[in-house]
Amino acid sequence: MIQPVGDIFSLPEVKGQLQKGAALDKITWFKVGGPADILFKPADEADLILFLKDIPEEIPVFTLGIGSNLLVRDSGFRGAVIRLGKPFAGMELLDGDRLKVGGGALDLYTARFAAEQGLTGAEFLSGIPGSIGGALRMNAGAYGGEMKDILVSAVAIDRQGNRHELDREQMKFSYRHSDTPDDWIFTEAVLQLQPGEPEAIRSVMDDIASSREESQPIRSRTGGSTFANPPGHKAWELIDAVGARGLQIGAAQISEKHCNFLINTGGATAEDIEAVAEEARRRVFRDHDILLRWEIVRLGDTPAPVQKEGKVA
Ligand SMILES: Cc1cc2nc3c(=O)[nH]c(=O)nc-3n(C[C@H](O)[C@H](O)[C@H](O)COP(=O)(O)OP(=O)(O)OC[C@H]3O[C@@H](n4cnc5c(N)ncnc54)[C@H](O)[C@@H]3O)c2cc1C
Repeated sequence: MIQPVGDIFSLPEVKGQLQKGAALDKITWFKVGGPADILFKPADEADLILFLKDIPEEIPVFTLGIGSNLLVRDSGFRGAVIRLGKPFAGMELLDGDRLKVGGGALDLYTARFAAEQGLTGAEFLSGIPGSIGGALRMNAGAYGGEMKDILVSAVAIDRQGNRHELDREQMKFSYRHSDTPDDWIFTEAVLQLQPGEPEAIRSVMDDIASSREESQPIRSRTGGSTFANPPGHKAWELIDAVGARGLQIGAAQISEKHCNFLINTGGATAEDIEAVAEEARRRVFRDHDILLRWEIVRLGDTPAPVQKEGKVA
């Protein structure tokens, strides 16, 4: 394990905010987990590039969106967490019904902006409580749409601070995944939408909002879908079938409302949350011979419980 970053090198001279020993539980949905050695909020893309070029190669870097699909482990993160935020939240209408949006923009605001321009195709984003950068990384999708359907191109900055422009093919999208290097940071996306009726667009977004309210614990400390749906199955049905709905370890619970969601009912540790999910995963493997794939990203050093061998769905 590396030493705390502050002890082994001086921090780069950046325009943005640098914080040592930054709490991550305050800025992620689950509200659990230990601190990061460093939290960096770049002022702009040049600042981000400068930071990446300056910090030693061996310091791990992790990009945080708004932490809606993330479980930070209790040990925290020995490295630098980068959060894009407001300076990267710009939106612009381009020619040809295209939108340029920053990697730090919220999905909901992007959907609203598209609606204001009378553009359809981004309504599904209104149901995903993340950022555009997170949506690119996770190929976020809901209600029949996903990022890969509307993406024209994305800009990514690599760990060495080099800028890449990727088209949709190069994003290598699959179900809730983009097969690009883990440490690339998406700073911008161009989306292709179509002209639509503002009223109709708003009504789709209203339907999405009420459907989510009914079916998901959106007001809880959660992390969205815990496991990806294995081919031919729904993760929640498998979890339900093994009697894990409502299962609790400490203050961590599998949601009664939607059993592919984990809940911190108040004061849970990341270990409890991971353990209750692993228990459901163990039972699904035992009874159905399917090893569920974690969709929630886990950050930090705590070793995960030993996994049994099996086919990874
Ligand atoms: C109540 C609830 C409902 C949800 N419903 C859905 C749904 O219907 N469909 C769906 O797809 N998801 C859903 N999610 C999950 C989550 O909202 C999405 O995965 C979202 O895209 C994550 O975005 P984020 O900004 O919060 O990313 P984070 O959770 O912060 O990070 C997730 C991953 O994205 C990476 N990442 C974040 N920003 C960047 C960036 N700029 N560049 C590179 N990598 C980056 C992180 O490193 C990490 O690997 C839901 C979550 C919640 C809490």
